[in-house]
Amino acid sequence: MIGVCCAYYLAKRGARVTVLERDEIGSGASFGNAGTIAPGHAPMTKPGRVKQALKNMIDPTSPLYIAPRWDPALMKWLWVFRRHCTETHLKASMEALAPLGHDTRELFDQLVDEEALECNYTAEGYYDVFLTEPGLANATNEASLMWTHGYRPMLLPGEELREREPALRRGVRGGIFYPEAATLNPHSFLREMADRMSRLGAAVRIAADVSELLTSAHRVTGVRLRDGEVLTAGTVVLATGAYSLELAASVGYRLPIQAGKGYHRDRNLGAGGTPSLEITCMLGEHSVFCTPMDGFVRYAGTMEFSGLNHEIRRPRLEQLTRAANLYLTGVGDVESRSEWCGLRPCTPDGLPIVGPVPGCEGLFIATGHAMLGLTLGPITGKLVAEMVLDGAPSRNIDALRVNRF
Ligand SMILES: Cc1cc2nc3c(=O)[nH]c(=O)nc-3n(C[C@H](O)[C@H](O)[C@H](O)COP(=O)(O)OP(=O)(O)OC[C@H]3O[C@@H](n4cnc5c(N)ncnc54)[C@H](O)[C@@H]3O)c2cc1C
Repeated sequence: MIGVCCAYYLAKRGARVTVLERDEIGSGASFGNAGTIAPGHAPMTKPGRVKQALKNMIDPTSPLYIAPRWDPALMKWLWVFRRHCTETHLKASMEALAPLGHDTRELFDQLVDEEALECNYTAEGYYDVFLTEPGLANATNEASLMWTHGYRPMLLPGEELREREPALRRGVRGGIFYPEAATLNPHSFLREMADRMSRLGAAVRIAADVSELLTSAHRVTGVRLRDGEVLTAGTVVLATGAYSLELAASVGYRLPIQAGKGYHRDRNLGAGGTPSLEITCMLGEHSVFCTPMDGFVRYAGTMEFSGLNHEIRRPRLEQLTRAANLYLTGVGDVESRSEWCGLRPCTPDGLPIVGPVPGCEGLFIATGHAMLGLTLGPITGKLVAEMVLDGAPSRNIDALRVNRF
């Protein structure tokens, strides 16, 4: 998502761009995410998060799970994360992210319209629904913070929610409607964007596994591929998501990123395995999105810190539909059309890392978008293009600077 969006906006402004992708376009976390564009939402670092994580450490089916193991980098990351779970940091994060949310939503509308992207884009918001009063109260608090930044989330009682979404069970107490949100099929979006960026002149090389960033006299000179091939470039944008650590380390930079694994389970509509939803419902207490896409519903979510691997833990995957069954009628036990896990690039302060690398001219980093990488893709791409071509972004994104840790 991030690399494709950077390449699109750079190519659109006439830059000569090559995208290097070791697999295929849209194969990382961006392939199978929940497809929700959620502007104005707070990052992961929220007051009370650490307590919640510690309580959940022994429950492998909880929404936030840290697989117990000895990993000094994870310990350090958690320590810094803990320091950021404060009201003060939440407010500062919202100051940084809320304006980007407004911009990115506009860019999505523009992209889908101007580029005629076929990606099941539905700009009708989503519901965050709750079974418990404490859950609803918490979400109402967060929603009130969004109001101060120009978003208009609405509190809805259970009855009204059921009128709007008849598949919701009677146990649902209420929820929040986020009108500025939208949904799409992320893989279709990326396929379409890759096509449009190629038409703008960007080259794409798949199966190009970058092993090293090359520098000379404090400036980037290109990259080396795993097979030894060297490609020269005056500018390099590192946008390899959760896999960015090794590449940043090749120029002596330690990125504080942990992989936050999430899962999806897709079920075809009409197969008895899934309710027909009007718009996306997020199952608040379980952090599971139920997103209607073209012909299927995607159950997606959970956050697991278990290292940089793609091992699917069945109980966590199954928890997606088990949770859905608590909130929605019609969630049957049928075969899934797809089961998947992906790695979110998570920073310990919850904010993305976007900007030039000090001391290495021509090198830019754009990663660490955690749960908001789809949402913030277009605005990240646009701002990176501005930094590369104009020397500065049109928005103040100092809070996202590379050397803040
Ligand atoms: C279950 C789940 C649900 C989510 N739901 C949402 C949502 O609803 N809304 C939202 O905004 N966000 C959501 N996210 C988060 C979002 O998916 C991520 O933040 C986003 O995909 C990160 O994009 P990225 O481009 O940084 O990384 P990735 O999508 O992981 O892309 C990195 C790319 O770099 C390539 N690469 C890696 N190493 C190399 C190398 N050495 N050489 C060449 N290429 C390389 C990879 O193959 C990959 O294609 C969700 C994530 C998950 C897992």
